[in-house]
This record gives sequence, C-alpha cells and structure tokens, in this order.
Amino acid sequence: MTRTRCRVLSCAEHEGLEFELLDVRTRGQYLTRLRSLTREEQAEWGRREQRALASLVDHELEHGCNG
Ligand SMILES: [Zn+2]
Repeated sequence: MTRTRCRVLSCAEHEGLEFELLDVRTRGQYLTRLRSLTREEQAEWGRREQRALASLVDHELEHGCNG
C-alpha cells in the first residue's frame, strides 16, 4: 500500500490568487472585444497578468500547495 499525502487539498489563498489571475485574463479579453486596445494598454494588461501569475507561482513554491 502506498500513501499519497503530499498535497494540500484546498488552500483558500491559492484559490484567491487563481481567481485574481482568471479575473485579470477575463477583463483583458473583455476589453479587447469591446474595442481595440493601444499597444500601451496591451502591454499593461500583459504586465498585470504576469504579476498575477508570478504571485500564484510564488505562493505555490512557498506554501507547497498545488491548488
Ligand atoms: Zn497555499
């Protein structure tokens, strides 16, 4: 028999960060559909998404959780 207990089942903080990333992506896509964004705006949304993704990855590394 093998024990598999290496994963935290649910982490509220992780969920929150995941939601933030999804939110940034969704809003960026929504804006793009409404009108064409300028290059600066596209870059800004890209940075926001990168930041959200970085926080999520940082959290996973520090906390050792996986969603
Ligand atoms: Zn966590």
